[in-house]
Amino acid sequence: MSQSTKISLSMLLGVVVGFIFNLYLPENTIQYLDKNIFHLIGTGFIRFIQFIVVPIILASLVVSMTRMKDIKKIGRYSLKLMILYILTSLVALFIGIFFAYLLKPGIGVQLLQQKVELKEGMSLSEWLLSIIPVNPFEAMSSGHMIQIIITSLLLGLGITLAKEKGKPFLSFFESANEVINHIMGIILKLAPIGVFSLMVSVIATQGLGILKNLSLYIIGLILSIFVMGFGIYGVLLFLLGTNPLKFYRSFFPAISLAFGTASSNATLPLAMENAEKRYGMKKEILSFAIPFGISLKKDGAVILQGFTALFVAQLSGIDLQLNQIIAIAISAILVSFSTAGVPGAGIIMMSTVLSAAGLPLEAIAIIAGVDRLTDTFRTSLNVVGVLANAVILERWERRE
Ligand code: ASP
Repeated sequence: MSQSTKISLSMLLGVVVGFIFNLYLPENTIQYLDKNIFHLIGTGFIRFIQFIVVPIILASLVVSMTRMKDIKKIGRYSLKLMILYILTSLVALFIGIFFAYLLKPGIGVQLLQQKVELKEGMSLSEWLLSIIPVNPFEAMSSGHMIQIIITSLLLGLGITLAKEKGKPFLSFFESANEVINHIMGIILKLAPIGVFSLMVSVIATQGLGILKNLSLYIIGLILSIFVMGFGIYGVLLFLLGTNPLKFYRSFFPAISLAFGTASSNATLPLAMENAEKRYGMKKEILSFAIPFGISLKKDGAVILQGFTALFVAQLSGIDLQLNQIIAIAISAILVSFSTAGVPGAGIIMMSTVLSAAGLPLEAIAIIAGVDRLTDTFRTSLNVVGVLANAVILERWERRE
């Protein structure tokens, strides 16, 4: 049985077992089992996930930064792609936040008992200053995610500028990246039991309310993904004089592979083949823009982070302040750039966005149970985004 099947099944099983417990066990037995077994295992799993967040951001961001090599054309492609990525990510973010506001998937159930410590009284300028790291080691040890992201960007830039002399340092990060991906593989092996425990814990202690709320969460997320993947990209491609139908038809194999595996990395070879053989994209463009995009561009992750952050705020009854919304926007887009193209990577990065906005991390437990389901959809969007932006770059280059 594949890992994905295991995760989906463990989620369903967790729901069933949670319901049975909720219906037939006395309240104090539920509390006892939850505290000593399900909450324990589920939270343990989340702690493991948190364990790899800092190294993942650091290593993967440094490595992907240095992939933007210095030869003139690659510099131009990178710049254009980055502009396109940021603009389209902003649109994706807006769509995610819009649907979260519209559907209010988190309103109605007060799931998070814990009182939240908000960093009150911080003005926007104070907040902007606070995200600048004064000490890279302190940023890492305190787990200040935006500072870590800025540290990684500076390191990546330094390595690129140092050219030959930066290579040994880069090899360290490349090797670290490899090692961390393996650790992530091990941690994801724990996902079925983690997800099962989290589901039992949530459903047994909360009952039906959570499923009702989560169904709105799932629907909202999928709706946002469809609007971005077909609506926005479809219209953009049409406006640029390309045929959107040809686009979706040519890349259907790569998109369905993304849907099936929930890993955009896994789709790289097929996406390049589709681009060349089925779509007829210029070799020079596709061989740069697709690998570049697969490691950087993740619209599905942007939507996931933005939508979920609002969901969590609604769930915990927090009225988001402007500085928190800005923190969500900036961190969601930056984090999406360093989200690995593997199943469940988005949820791993979620603690960055939630802690940047001062939202409770415990909420990840609630989302984790349905993550596998939404992952298939957002991975497909990730791949659509990479390919659509490659097509847009090709048009842009041709025009010039
Ligand atoms: N699974 C996604 C991908 O491979 C990443 C994510 O979890 O959002 O692109």
